[in-house]
Amino acid sequence: MSYVKGLKCRECKREYPKEALFVCDYCFGSLEVTYDYEKIKKHLTKEVIESRDKNMWRYRELLPIEGEPTDGLNSGYTPLIKANNLAKKLGVKELYIKDDSVCHPTLSFKDRVVSVALSRAKEFGYKTMACASTGNLANSVASHAAKAGLKAYIFIPADLELGKVIGTLIYHPNLISVEGNYDEVNRLCSEVAAKYKWAFVNINIRPYYAEGSKTYGYEIAEQLGWRAPDHIVVPCAGGSLITKIWKSFKEFHKLGLISKPITKMYAAQATGCAPIVNMIKDKSEIMMPVKPKTIAKSLAIGNPADGYYAKGVVEESGGEAESVTDEEIVEGIKLLAATEGIFTETAGGVTVAVTKKLIEQGIIPKDELIVISITGNGLKTQEAVQSHIGKPIKIKPTLKSFEEEVKL
Ligand SMILES: *Cc1c(COP(=O)(O)O)cnc(C)c1O
Ligand SMILES: [Zn+2]
Repeated sequence: MSYVKGLKCRECKREYPKEALFVCDYCFGSLEVTYDYEKIKKHLTKEVIESRDKNMWRYRELLPIEGEPTDGLNSGYTPLIKANNLAKKLGVKELYIKDDSVCHPTLSFKDRVVSVALSRAKEFGYKTMACASTGNLANSVASHAAKAGLKAYIFIPADLELGKVIGTLIYHPNLISVEGNYDEVNRLCSEVAAKYKWAFVNINIRPYYAEGSKTYGYEIAEQLGWRAPDHIVVPCAGGSLITKIWKSFKEFHKLGLISKPITKMYAAQATGCAPIVNMIKDKSEIMMPVKPKTIAKSLAIGNPADGYYAKGVVEESGGEAESVTDEEIVEGIKLLAATEGIFTETAGGVTVAVTKKLIEQGIIPKDELIVISITGNGLKTQEAVQSHIGKPIKIKPTLKSFEEEVKL
């Protein structure tokens, strides 16, 4: 049973059938999935959602597959944590962490998009999965493809963190390390995708894949007791996640599940790769692609596919954009660990540090409900913090040595 109507060009609004299409033949705009909301409204009530298993498919009617989900049956429904310690530190009243550093099975929000992409790709009859990745997507596609028994071809920039390389190779995909940055990897993949009949999750089945990110937003609204937050800080790489969180709140409102969202959306990037943030702060109509230079490799996309849409969401919602340096990213990672006991990766360091900055600047008010998006796990980016966290105290296995070295 499907509630998907079809695909629609985000620019000229031409409609297309729900096939493996991703770009408009007329204007080259990207395509987006459309749904029959009237029909969904009749089925999808709060009670129905709450009665379902605690995974991302509890919002199944709002996800673009035809039959039953076959992938990611344990993905999503990650904790929304009331971050009282961090709130106190930042001087704000009500702060939450949406913690996808523990998303099953590969510890980032990419398990959401890949779950939808694979379920849909199988319906299309694809036997081989592929992707261009900044790291977390590589882990997720490799893992899900292994579980589904599909072939995988995964393209990454050569300078990725060891944890992300090992966390991909362990599933034994074809891992191709490209001498170049993500934007060069992505361009190569577009050529490969045109030639080989593979499901490139973030290229030729991107409209379906991208919808998986909405579940991050649905969960936040449900976990807050059926309301959208006042403020949410979101990390941007390609710029898709921020647009899909916004879409998720709007859809929940359309279905009568929450009141009209007044959420202000904040785009967060690393200063060393901030094409979206720069465009928003400069009030420019044109995004200037950059050559990434940052420890936040998962966000290092110099020419983001959804950059203009991300800007649109930030402006429509009345939010803002901010970037932080590599030093601030490390401080952000350490701050979250010290206050909330959560070890996030560099992208989480970006959102924590950007949140702190926006609060200090008075842009995010101190007395309203704030959510920080934590989208990945710190064990994968250990290089980023290795030289900033001290060393263990070395002792001999004697009480004397313990008391001498550990100054009690
Ligand atoms: C991919 C990724 C993002 C950003 O996603 P986009 O939708 O491309 O903006 C954020 N955080 C982490 C950890 C990621 O891996
Ligand atoms: Zn078009």
